[in-house]
Amino acid sequence: MNGYGGSILRVNLTEGKITRLPTPADVIRDYIGGRGFGAYFLYHEVPAHADPLGPENKLIISTGPLSGLMIPGAGKCDFSTKSPLTGGYAGSSLGGLFTAEMKYAGIDSIILEGISPKPVYLFIDDRKAELRDASEYWGKGSITVERMFKEQLGEEFQVAVIGPGGENLVSYASINHDYGREAGRGGVGAVMGSKRLKAIVLHGTQSVQVADLAGYRQAGMALFKACKDSDGLKPWQDYGTTIVTSWCDEVGALPTRNFSAGSFEGGPTLYGPVMREQIVITDKGCFGCPSPCGKYSRMKRYGSTVEGPEYETIGMLGSNLGIADIQDVAQANLLCDELGIDTISAGSAIGWAMECFEKGILTLEDTGGLELRFGNVPAVFELLQAIAKRQGLGALLSQGVKAAAKQVGKGSEKFAIHVKGMEQSAYATHNATAMLLAYMTCDVGAHHNRSWAITYDLQVGRELVVPEKVARIIWLQDFRPMFDVFGTCRLQWVELGIDRELYVPALAAVTGVQRSWEELEMVGARIWNLNRMFWIRENEGFGREWDLPAPRFYEEAPKTGVTAGQITRLEDVHKLLDMYYEQRGWSSNGIPTPATLEKLGLAELAQTL
Ligand code: SF4
Repeated sequence: MNGYGGSILRVNLTEGKITRLPTPADVIRDYIGGRGFGAYFLYHEVPAHADPLGPENKLIISTGPLSGLMIPGAGKCDFSTKSPLTGGYAGSSLGGLFTAEMKYAGIDSIILEGISPKPVYLFIDDRKAELRDASEYWGKGSITVERMFKEQLGEEFQVAVIGPGGENLVSYASINHDYGREAGRGGVGAVMGSKRLKAIVLHGTQSVQVADLAGYRQAGMALFKACKDSDGLKPWQDYGTTIVTSWCDEVGALPTRNFSAGSFEGGPTLYGPVMREQIVITDKGCFGCPSPCGKYSRMKRYGSTVEGPEYETIGMLGSNLGIADIQDVAQANLLCDELGIDTISAGSAIGWAMECFEKGILTLEDTGGLELRFGNVPAVFELLQAIAKRQGLGALLSQGVKAAAKQVGKGSEKFAIHVKGMEQSAYATHNATAMLLAYMTCDVGAHHNRSWAITYDLQVGRELVVPEKVARIIWLQDFRPMFDVFGTCRLQWVELGIDRELYVPALAAVTGVQRSWEELEMVGARIWNLNRMFWIRENEGFGREWDLPAPRFYEEAPKTGVTAGQITRLEDVHKLLDMYYEQRGWSSNGIPTPATLEKLGLAELAQTL
């Protein structure tokens, strides 16, 4: 199996049984790897209406055919499951070094099922795999536990671990690795916690067979050379994702005080150059990355260090909470990492609670005496702890903003910023219709990485509602997630402008199968539609209403900043959906038609409609 580890490791935690089976050739052919494997196994193995935190749900961890090879950024791993946050599909990507070791242990996917009677961790050393007692690690933070494992087993072991957030089943708990990389979105950490699996610790030494060694070397070198020659390399390496903070503030896309505006008066002290000057001490990259965007930061005021913060965290734990000091944001980032909770969802939940407090919907009695106003840093630190422990107001916020607003009511649903239950990541979309549609139709909920279109909005006119914009979003949704299928980072294409055609000979040389981007986009569309069918199967009455954005983006224009007074009308929101469904080959209620499913090789799913 050129390019593959060759096996699927199935771990039944209820029975304590581990089996290794060959990776099915037809799944490789139709879904290639990574996110494709996750979507396939999730749909076909998890029974309909399974409890996300029950024994029937599965957590599927997959490498891709390029993972662990000498291809730029080939250190991406996919975590797929039924989300406890949304009740639909969750697929979250993890960088770092984990996926390479998994591949060298000969594994394409780890499928975790059942529930262990006691806390355990999964130990893998090449062909050896066993469940071990985790009682000494349970209850501890994810960074602490990663250090313990490295000291006890050796630096060569890579660790994916949950913190107290995952143990306590916080709906947006993360899985952490490499002291600051996270599979953050959709509550994958809660699913791992529900199985009482504290960590996966692995190491491998096997080589990966490739079909054409000379061709692989040549294609890999061409990709690295393109990265090295890119004009985008230096600024990207200097600032990483924080390169966009100032730009977002200037164009009105920086989430500010629970997305009530897109520009923040305290924004300049959060910008990339300020962060680099004040707190960054070194750069850090994932496996095989020629353009390390990770930053290690030192917060002198707190006597601590953290990997980060990235732009999304700065947006959601900074401007979105009215916090303008980069050290405070970085410290909040560190807390989230150690506690094992997603910085985006946590920032959104706290932003919503702050707005509720300022509007008098939540009182001092509800907050346990916390003056929960925007900008109150100690209150944020306290609430993050309470969320991870599910105590007091933290218990309410640990369910995610959709569930919390439903429970509190009193009009607070209108400023719960989510789509399908997933908190919107850090782009304010009051008048950016392409990015708004990207959030509305994203296969996990309001997440940006499937189709990041905010720059495209500015290029073509952000308020336009036209079929070309919709076509662009669909193209991005089918194409961009293919990097998660290959097991590589997409940012070399996005930020360094690497020609995507350079990946075609690399994939062919590694796997021995020649596929054009036209064919690869078809695989992308198959995965997209399969995930849509998962949402439909799992949620009675699923349809257009589920794709609507938070009312804030069509009912309430910002009062300040460059987007003041601007908004997308509800009528235009529906027009966008009409065009999107038509171009996708879906019904006017957003359901794939039998003809569409057949065209994508998913005809058998039509019977479930
Ligand atoms: Fe990792 Fe950033 Fe490099 Fe991508 S660009 S591989 S996320 S360090």
